[in-house]
Amino acid sequence: MTAEIIKLKPTRPCPICGKPSSQQHHPFCSGRCQDIDLNRWLSGSYVIPAEPVEVDEEDGVVTRDDGDEE
Ligand SMILES: [Zn+2]
Repeated sequence: MTAEIIKLKPTRPCPICGKPSSQQHHPFCSGRCQDIDLNRWLSGSYVIPAEPVEVDEEDGVVTRDDGDEE
């Protein structure tokens, strides 16, 4: 056995931009996309303000409470 990194793994596309993922930032292609994904989660509802996102109602994640202030 060697301590080398196995490179036989099929590279899956970056979930953010679709580019081939790198081993350093797996499963993302770069630290930038990794950061984007992190920001998505930090935003709470996984919503991207930059581009329209359609979320299945089955998830029950999206809630429209525009006029509801606490
Ligand atoms: Zn990417």
